[in-house]
Amino acid sequence: MRSDPRDYQLVAPGTLHTVLAIMAEEPGAWLPIAGGTDVMVLYAAGKLPARRLLSIWNLPELRGIEVLPGEIRIGAGCTYTELREHEVIAREFPLLARAASWTGGIANQNRGTIGGNIVNASPAADSLPALLVYEAELILVSIRGERRVPYAGFHTGYKTTKLAVDELVRAVSLRRQFSEYFHYARKVGARNAQAIAKVCVAAVGRLTKNCVDDLRIALGSVAPVPLRLLNTEIAVKGKRIDSSLLMVARKTAASEIRPINDIRSTARYRSQVTSNLVEEFLRQLDTGATV
Ligand SMILES: Cc1cc2nc3c(=O)[nH]c(=O)nc-3n(C[C@H](O)[C@H](O)[C@H](O)COP(=O)(O)OP(=O)(O)OC[C@H]3O[C@@H](n4cnc5c(N)ncnc54)[C@H](O)[C@@H]3O)c2cc1C
Repeated sequence: MRSDPRDYQLVAPGTLHTVLAIMAEEPGAWLPIAGGTDVMVLYAAGKLPARRLLSIWNLPELRGIEVLPGEIRIGAGCTYTELREHEVIAREFPLLARAASWTGGIANQNRGTIGGNIVNASPAADSLPALLVYEAELILVSIRGERRVPYAGFHTGYKTTKLAVDELVRAVSLRRQFSEYFHYARKVGARNAQAIAKVCVAAVGRLTKNCVDDLRIALGSVAPVPLRLLNTEIAVKGKRIDSSLLMVARKTAASEIRPINDIRSTARYRSQVTSNLVEEFLRQLDTGATV
């Protein structure tokens, strides 16, 4: 059924403090809206349960990318365009820049925010495997103050998070420790642009003396939440990449995911593609090739 705009209220207080005060006064009564690229899809489909919307778009306190000596802090209100155009992100966190560049079309990239992608909590969200691989921390804020939580574990189940009802994501913090790593990203969808992933992968790795000294692999669209392949990482770490290790990695990766059949793909296809991509990542890590 079509929504009647007169049933909805949208306020835009313009400062973070006022937004947080409103959220604290009536916990859960207001739905924050940033770029609106997820919220408005629900609205247009008549599936938006919230009637009172609190705009956080363009709040100065949620904007900007701060480059510090040991970390970069990305405001939750940063758009994909800002992410993919940022020099330090492109150089040191290319998986995030890559994910930003393949998130929807240009209009969507000008409007969609990283905070919205995190809190919307889709298992198919493109930027989330990169955040897992880079071991991101989230800076959450409420009228009670700020707290930092690891991004890993923030999604507690399908579309659920650890965010309290009066909290916002203020920023994403990434430690600047991956410049010596090989970075690998792939999104497998029905087509190259404007497609929701059937499987997406982000991975980093480093070799020392021809052995895998360190690696991280994360996937989207293969479980209720974006998933880090911890068992696969353990199986590979410290070893030389050869055909038997590739076989072990393929099998371990397939055993760690929990894919489903849905309109975009089958569980079997997702499982096969996961193994193929893990193998491709390890082969390229071995030869130092870039995607
Ligand atoms: C045409 C189209 C194509 C798309 N393609 C892709 C794609 O390829 N890959 C992909 O991953 N996504 C895609 N999306 C989904 C969407 O663009 C992203 O998830 C985007 O990052 C959402 O950000 P937003 O600012 O628009 O969120 P909004 O719609 O404003 O909000 C989404 C949710 O997050 C909450 N929220 C937003 N910001 C915060 C914050 N700082 N703190 C707390 N809660 C917050 C809102 O309350 C809401 O629940 C697409 C959407 C459209 C319409």
